[in-house]
This record gives sequence, structure tokens and C-alpha cells, in this order.
Amino acid sequence: MTQIVHRTKTRPVKVGKDLTIGGNNEVVIQSMTTTKTHDIEATVAEILRLEEAGCQVVRVACPDMRAAEAISEIKKRINIPLVVDIHFDYKLALKAIEGGADKIRINPGNIGKKEKVEAVVSAAKEKGIPIRIGVNAGSLEKRILDKYGYPTAEGMVESALHHIKILEDLDFYDIIVSMKASDVNLAVEAYEKAAQAFDYPLHLGITESGTLFAGTIKSSAGLGVLLHKGIGNTVRISLSADPVEEIKVARELLKSFGLAANAATLISCPTCGRIEIDLISIANEIEDYISTIKAPIKVAVLGCAVNGPGEAKEADIGIAGARGEGLLFRHGEIVRKVPEDIMVEELKKEIDKIALEKMQK
Ligand code: SF4
Repeated sequence: MTQIVHRTKTRPVKVGKDLTIGGNNEVVIQSMTTTKTHDIEATVAEILRLEEAGCQVVRVACPDMRAAEAISEIKKRINIPLVVDIHFDYKLALKAIEGGADKIRINPGNIGKKEKVEAVVSAAKEKGIPIRIGVNAGSLEKRILDKYGYPTAEGMVESALHHIKILEDLDFYDIIVSMKASDVNLAVEAYEKAAQAFDYPLHLGITESGTLFAGTIKSSAGLGVLLHKGIGNTVRISLSADPVEEIKVARELLKSFGLAANAATLISCPTCGRIEIDLISIANEIEDYISTIKAPIKVAVLGCAVNGPGEAKEADIGIAGARGEGLLFRHGEIVRKVPEDIMVEELKKEIDKIALEKMQK
């Protein structure tokens, strides 16, 4: 099942064989590896873990030629589009493109001589791959900082337009832009202004947002405002944590806005004095169980049956605690009672059945 999602009008940009960012396509989830890219085994292993978690596009750092040379082998062993992140050095960009990168992240204004920029752009054009311009409040051009005094949303948009113009002048339009800042208000303002200034797809992110806990909140606060306004075509949650956590947070965030088609959602109550089961551990177990289900199902876990099933009418399947047993319910109606010691297993069986039904529809 594919959900058509209304976004602000953006140009569709193809990334890899089967994925398009922008246009009327779903918001795409990205992450970045934490391994040394030249360590092919470690990098591939991490990417496969990210794929399993639901990552749709993965980026690797390319700080040197060893990393650039590893791209072709990494590419052969993974299944999702590979983005190669390059700062300044056009030779690394050329090597990465030759190795099969599906997209490169480089700011054309930082490459240097015109011939070098032209070489990178013509290689990208020849392979039909896009370029992401990554504007970052922390590394704005001196000229812009001198003009505005400090990083501002206007300055960030001016920087983006400068890099965009370099590519457009070379007749290159497969562009994706990010406007990252670690200050949430600044990032939001910059993305809002960018969405008005040009129609290239926007890659959303709050950079250096922090640890799993703080970074999740900070990223969700910023990206939530933007997603609600229809801004953003791809997201990366930047966390000081295992990148698999970035995928989980991104998916949950998109689900909150109805922007993830084919994902299962958990509804669980906050518990109170009426609780009849060990709800917190059951909710965590079920959350983990449904995390890789690729069907739009809603599962509820409720502490008791007093308000339970009625409060979770939208759930395709759920369980409400009762004394020594669980009440399985579908769309608010109790279907059967199961003993407490097997209720989690019974719920999982029902989840599998419903997920299969939905996937076959
Ligand atoms: Fe309390 Fe029951 Fe509501 Fe959970 S479902 S919060 S246990 S009343």
C-alpha cells in the first residue's frame, strides 16, 4: 500500500534505481554510518543493520581516497541507495561517483576552481545522480557571516541559493538541499524560508542534536513543526547514539504525522491505579515486535478493561488487562479472553494475522 502524501511543491529527484525524493512521494528516512568508510566489512555490516531497521537511504563519510575507493565494494553489498559525503575535494567526488554512489553531498561553492566543479557536475550528470547541497549554520561562508554578523536564516538561504546557482548555471537540476542548524528555531526558520525560495526537495535535520533522549526531543520538536507544514522530503535524525536509533525515531516521528504508510503503530495507556497487568514491559515487548512490520496496523496494549477497548477503537487488535487474563479486542469490540501467561503470545499471533491480511490487500 502506498500512501500519497501532500508536501509543499517540490521537484522529484531520483536517488538510486527505485527511490524518488520530493514531488508527491513519501518522506524518506535516512541515516549515516558511524564506521570508518574504508573499513568495508564494518561499514557494510552497519548498513545492513540500518536496512533491517527501515533505513531507506544511507550516507557515508568520505574523508580520504581510501574511503572513496571503498565505495564500489560497499555498493555491491548493500541494497539501499548510498550517499557519499564529501567536503571540498573534487577528486574524492569523482572517485565516489565512479564507484557507484547514488548521490553525493558536496557544496559546489566549496570545490574551488570552475574546472573542478564542472568535472564533478558532468560526472554526476553522466551517471544521473543528484547532488545534495548541505548548508550548515555552523559553517556559513565568511562573506555571508560578514554581511549578517552571525548565522541567520536569511544568510543560510543566501548560501543555499549561491550553491544552487552554480549547479543551475551548469544546467544541473537534480538537487536536494539541507539547511541544518543545531538551534531549533534557526533551523525551522531557515527551512521555512528555503521552502519559499526554491522548489528543490528539502532534507530535514537538526544537526548535533544530542544524545538519544535529548536529541530525540530536539529533533522531533524542530522537524515536527516543519512536517506539519508539509515541508521536508527526507529526514535524518542526528543522534549521539547507534544510528539504528535514528531510524526508529524518524519512523516514529513520521508515523505521528501519518507520513509513514506501511508501518505498525502502538497505542498504550499511561497506566493508573486500575492497572491489572504488567503493562510497561508488555508495551515494550510489543513495540519491539511490531517495529519491522511493514503494514499499516494499529496495536493497543491497555492496563485494564474499564475504559480500555473503547478508548482504543482505532486499534486493529489490542489487549486489555483483566484479573489473571487479557481481553483481546478488535476495533473496540472484545473478541475473546486469554489467560495472562499466554496473552502476549496470543496477541503476537493476532498481529501477524492482521499484518498479513493488510499486506495482501
Ligand atoms: Fe488506567 Fe486502565 Fe486507562 Fe490504563 S487503560 S490508564 S490502566 S484506566
